[in-house]
This record gives sequence, C-alpha cells and structure tokens, in this order.
Amino acid sequence: MTTSHYIAGRWVEGQGSDCISVNDPALGQPFAELMAASVAQVDQAVTAARGALPAWKNTSASERAAYLRGFAEQLGQRREALIALQMRNNGKPRHEAEIDLDDAIATFGYYAELAEQLPSKNRDVPLAAPGFSARTRLEPVGVVGLIVPWNFPLVTSAWKLAPALAAGCTVVLKPSEVTPLIEQAYGQIADALGLPPGVLNIVNGKAETGAALSNHNGLDKLSFTGSNSVGSQVMRSASAQCRPVTLELGGKSAIVVFDDCDVGQAVEWIVAGITWNAGQMCSATSRLLVQDGIADALLPRLQVALEQLRVGNPLTEEVEMGPLTSQAQWLKVAGYFATAREEGLQCLAGGKALDRDGWFVSPTLYADVPKDSRLWTEEIFGPVLCARRFATEGQAIAEANDSRFGLVATVCSADLERAERVADALEVGHVWINSVQAVFVETSWGGTKGSGIGRELGPWGLSAYQSVKHVTRCLG
Ligand code: NAD
Repeated sequence: MTTSHYIAGRWVEGQGSDCISVNDPALGQPFAELMAASVAQVDQAVTAARGALPAWKNTSASERAAYLRGFAEQLGQRREALIALQMRNNGKPRHEAEIDLDDAIATFGYYAELAEQLPSKNRDVPLAAPGFSARTRLEPVGVVGLIVPWNFPLVTSAWKLAPALAAGCTVVLKPSEVTPLIEQAYGQIADALGLPPGVLNIVNGKAETGAALSNHNGLDKLSFTGSNSVGSQVMRSASAQCRPVTLELGGKSAIVVFDDCDVGQAVEWIVAGITWNAGQMCSATSRLLVQDGIADALLPRLQVALEQLRVGNPLTEEVEMGPLTSQAQWLKVAGYFATAREEGLQCLAGGKALDRDGWFVSPTLYADVPKDSRLWTEEIFGPVLCARRFATEGQAIAEANDSRFGLVATVCSADLERAERVADALEVGHVWINSVQAVFVETSWGGTKGSGIGRELGPWGLSAYQSVKHVTRCLG
C-alpha cells in the first residue's frame, strides 16, 4: 500500500507538518507512518476536482455505472489485503472485516444500478396550467468534500463515494488519521480503472487537513461522518458559506426488550449490539431497556455472555471482540469506567481495561443506571452497556426517546404488532425489530435530533448529491 495522497490522478507525498502514526491497536504499537497533506495540497485536490467536474458530470450515466461496477470488482480482487489491513489497523475480528468489505462492494454495485436509471428520472412534469411545459433534470451538486471517521473506513467512504460519483459529482475524500491506509485502496482502484484524473482525490491528515477541506470555498457541498463536536464545526464552516452539508453524527441508541422474548435470543441481540466493532459503532445499542417481567432472568445471562466473550488480537487469536482502535478511544472509555465508579454505578460485568498490551477493555454492563448518569446520556463508543428496567410499553417508548440523539433503536418482542407500534413511536432514523445492526444498501441511514442531518444509502443517499432543476417553457 502506498502511504501518501491521491491528487489529480497522481500519488504525492504529504507536505504538511503532522506525522501520522498508523497503529496496531492489539499491540498498541505503530506499524507505518505518513506525512499529512498540507493546506496547499488540500487546495490542489479541490482545484483538481473542480477541473474534472465539467467532463465528469457530462459522462453518460452508463459510463459512470461501469466505473462503479469496476470499483466493486476491484474491491473484491483486493479482498485478502483489505481484510488483513482492517484487522490490523482497526482491530476488527475477521468476520467483521469481511462484512465491511462486502458492504462496500454491495454499495458500489447498488449505486451502479441507480446510476443506470438516472436518465429515466429526467422527465416531463404534468402541469395543471395550460400553455406551459415543464421537465425535471437531476444534476450533480458539484464538487463535494467527504470527511469520514475510523470505525468503518471502507464502508463509510463507500456510502459517500459511490452515490457522489454516480450522481456525477467529483470528490475530495479525507479519511481518518487513525486509519489512513485503508481508503488508499479507492485511489489505487481509480488508477487501475483509468478514472479521469481529479474525479476522486484523497488527502490524509488530522484536524488541520479536515478543517482546510471543510473551510474551502471551492466546495459545493460537504458530507461529514464523525463526532458531534467536529460536526458542529463543519456545520459552522458550511453556514459561513451558505452551502449544504450532510452530517452523520453520534448516537446513544436504545434496545427495548419486552418480557415475551426468548431470553437466550435477546441476550445474543443485546451482546451483538454493544460488542461488534468493540462497541465503536454510531449505532451501538448502548442503552438497554428491559421489561420488569424478564429483567431478573435476563441480566444474569447477559452478565455471563459478556464475561465469556472471547476478547483478543484478531490476527493471532480466535476472537469475538478485538481491542479499541485507538489509544485516545481507550483512554476515553477508561475515563467512563472512572466516572461509573465515582457515580457508584452497579457494575455487573467488566468495567476495566484489560491487563495486557494493546488497547483492550472488557465488555461492560452497568445495571439500574440513573437517567441522569453521564453513562446513560453520553456516547461512550466502546463496549459499555447501561441497563434500566421498565414496566409498560409507554414507559419504554418515553425512556428510549429521552435522548438528545436519535440514530437507531432495536425492539425485541414476540408480539409483532406491538413491536411495529413501538418502532413507529421511536424518534430515530432506523429501527430493527428482532434483529440487530442489519444494514441493507436499499434502506436509508441517518438520524434525527443530534444524530445528524440528511440520509445516506438507498435513493436518499443519491439525492444527497443531486440538485433538482426544472425547465419550464411557454408554449405560446
Ligand atoms: P471525529 O469527529 O473526531 O473525526 C471525524 C473526521 O473529522 C476525521 O477524519 C477527522 O480527522 C476529521 N476532523 C477532525 N477535526 C476536524 C475539523 N476541525 N474540521 C474538519 N474535520 C475534522 O470522529 P471519530 O472519532 O473519527 O469517529 C467517531 C464518531 O463518529 C462517533 O461520534 C460516531 O458516533 C460517529 N460516527 C457516526 C456515524 C453515522 O453514520 N452517524 C458512523 C460512524 C461514526
């Protein structure tokens, strides 16, 4: 893997001042480093994207679809390398790294299909008024900046890149400094496919590079996935220039378990919802609401399941959960363990960092957590589950909705009518019923309230990179 930046169809060395260490979190040690892009290089990338736009937006939809299919195919050809890199740099267990790769492949395939349907979307609009005709044109938004986090690097970038390219936009992608090598694959694939220079640019770097991109006045739109604190800075930059922004931010999602559930099945769903990717998911269901009638049976089994989870180095051990991906994240989660002790929370499992090299913590369960606890209200981004009990359906809905976030929720119940009713009442962007974290490219992704603005995936993900134009003609 090359360790630099892809600008105007060329690989270039970083000229910024930050040196980025790429770490193996299971050992807590670096295995590569690269220099960040400078502010001037970000400018070159935006200029290249601007220069490439007129030709790219006028390519036929089927030509763009062919490139997208090429991305899907080439990702498949790089399968083993990309799985190994995600395991090493993210600390993902193998099966999770495989799911991520398959998700990225499916995303490019799906948007290739939507690209092919684009010509049929430009159609006449029937008017009630006589004497006029009107037609719709869906045009690309233009040059877009894409800033992404480290927890699902292949996937989050694919969810932005594929629809943006399908729509006819040109892009500058800024991966996270925690995982700067993984998305280099997209640049290599662009090279291999002969994608016109400047259509896809990749600049790596930390906050300075991200800010240089989000403040750049050569962008027509910015799509950001990451934390709420950085998201609000990105939104400020967008508002200063009055330009659109998509924000995919944090979550503190509920999993609601009714007392008609099979206990063993519910435990499986709960554990998966908080330990996949070591809990580093915006969509982690980190608030467990369990009905009184099942709580006493469920909590002890949940405790055992979490304690028995195989935690270790995905590269050398058969594991179900790897380390946290960065030292910063490990320190943050350890800080929440300290807060839990200060708040006197009842810890049923975990609650500590593991005594071994690397950035490991044990899967953790706190019971009967007060509603005003920081652990109940704040996004932790680790395998830390907080539980509360509820008596009635109404109480469960009220508690689940009592959050400044609104990304996802899971509802577990044998009564499907009730499950559907509760799903409809939850103030979130996506609800799973009797399943966990299943994301399909045809459905939408994104949240309400503090979890963001806009939607990715599905046709909504494509619309995010399109501008609607109407042409109205007087027939007289
Ligand atoms: P982060 O906000 O720290 O960083 C995200 C990206 O922004 C990185 O590329 C970073 O370099 C860049 N950045 C940092 N400072 C910047 C600045 N001032 N201006 C512009 N860019 C800047 O987030 P993270 O720690 O990488 O990721 C974790 C967060 O992402 C969590 O809050 C999680 O919930 C959220 N997330 C949300 C979704 C979603 O779909 N809603 C998906 C994944 C992650």
